[in-house]
Amino acid sequence: MSETKTYLNFINGEWLPSSSKELVASYNPASPSEIVGSVQNSTEQDLEKAVSAAKQSQKLWRKLSGPERGEYLYKAADLFEQNIDSIAETLTREMGKTLVEAKGETKRGAAILRYYAGEGMRKEGDLIPSADRSALMFSKRVPLGVAGMITPWNFPVAIPVWKMAPALIYGNTVILKPATEASVTAAKVIECFDQAGFPKGVINFITGRGSVIGQGLAENKDVSAVSFTGSNSTGRQIEKAVAERGGKYQLEMGGKNPLIVAEDADIDLAVEAALNGGLRSTGQKCTCSSRVIVQEGIYQDFKEKLLSKAEKITVGDGLKEDTWMGPCATKDQFENVKKYIDTGQKEGANLIFGGSPVSHEKGGYFLQPAIFENVTSVMTIAREEIFGPVLALMKVTSIEEAIELANNVEYGLSASIFSKNINHILTFIDDIEAGLVRINSETAGVELQAPFGGMKASSSFSREQGEAAKEFYTTQKTIFIKG
Ligand code: NAD
Repeated sequence: MSETKTYLNFINGEWLPSSSKELVASYNPASPSEIVGSVQNSTEQDLEKAVSAAKQSQKLWRKLSGPERGEYLYKAADLFEQNIDSIAETLTREMGKTLVEAKGETKRGAAILRYYAGEGMRKEGDLIPSADRSALMFSKRVPLGVAGMITPWNFPVAIPVWKMAPALIYGNTVILKPATEASVTAAKVIECFDQAGFPKGVINFITGRGSVIGQGLAENKDVSAVSFTGSNSTGRQIEKAVAERGGKYQLEMGGKNPLIVAEDADIDLAVEAALNGGLRSTGQKCTCSSRVIVQEGIYQDFKEKLLSKAEKITVGDGLKEDTWMGPCATKDQFENVKKYIDTGQKEGANLIFGGSPVSHEKGGYFLQPAIFENVTSVMTIAREEIFGPVLALMKVTSIEEAIELANNVEYGLSASIFSKNINHILTFIDDIEAGLVRINSETAGVELQAPFGGMKASSSFSREQGEAAKEFYTTQKTIFIKG
């Protein structure tokens, strides 16, 4: 039997209860009566403590050399790997993704830490020729100060790590406020950072309500930068609060990602990509494919192959080896996805596969994946992010029409095309409005060393991961030395 434990906040190097003395329980979506763990319902007072610790410790942390800071990140990466089974099991029990996916995400966390540990040895500025022959001029990247991270529940290991690792290596101290629904997993991530021996106050972790702790981070003038991933409505509130006080922010938000299948595509590959990209993690990825736009000449063939593969999808507890797709992460998600499926039918789309709840002995939030056809661009299921296992098939005559349809939403996170025609591919690369442009590959799935982020309503223009993170977590000094 797995443990049920209460997790504390981590502030100034100590695990502390909240001043509220209140706890919030986190439940297993595959077995909703099972408590995975409890976390603190923190107060503004707790947050103030965390901010003050982070501010104080930043004075010393920024003085360490890049390679010295990197050593801490390498240690944290090793600890991630040593604890992979326990972190991944908690992740599966807390938000429902399969154990294979959870292990992959934890490994990704270790790889991100190693990438940024190495970043501590790379250049931190440029030598710039001066008009004055006797002068030396160069730029130097410097940290911002305290960085606050507000994260969602769908990647409770990878997203906190891809924000914290670059913030730390460039000399900032951090405060992580994870989504309540996945705070136990995030606490396990912080345990690894704790064991890695970072100086006290460099890493702070505080759980609680978004409207209290998230908003508090956004409003606090001692938090120089706020990195947010989550829904658009929350993102816009954070943007307003941080911008008003002159802080730096980045927002990574929703998606409504299209996958285009051209007549010349390898249909089997495209089918695999639609199912993996659309339904893995129960469709709860910001990059998941939700609109599958298919050219009419191969539509029937594509649809039949898609349905026959969809039949084989096993829905169940992610801890079981034969599960392909786990439950929706929460009851709210489950209800919301069901509502979208109803709306799709009411608005005239044809539900050609699944879409019903799957009964389960422990009453989890299981849904069969849903596949719709005859979906038009004005329908709700073609416009709004569902964040669940729902695919909308749309038929088009040409690639130009496919791209126009793909762009006809407010979002612009990820998009892919399956085609062997170089002209189609080049047109797609040029004309698609998406930050992540994928050719013959699913919309979900990104590499940690490349910039990540969306266009239009999906992002606030900044990018995460790879070298791009340096732009966000540092500012520049231009130094001029007259000889
Ligand atoms: P959410 O917006 O509800 O919550 C995200 C975080 O914001 C949580 O920590 C929450 O507690 C906090 N929060 C809530 N209200 C707040 C407030 N008023 N002020 C400050 N913080 C507040 O999102 P979610 O449901 O956890 O995650 C799902 C969303 O995240 C989807 O829209 C998905 O597309 C998006 N997402 C985007 C990316 C990306 O990189 N673009 C990646 C993963 C998820």
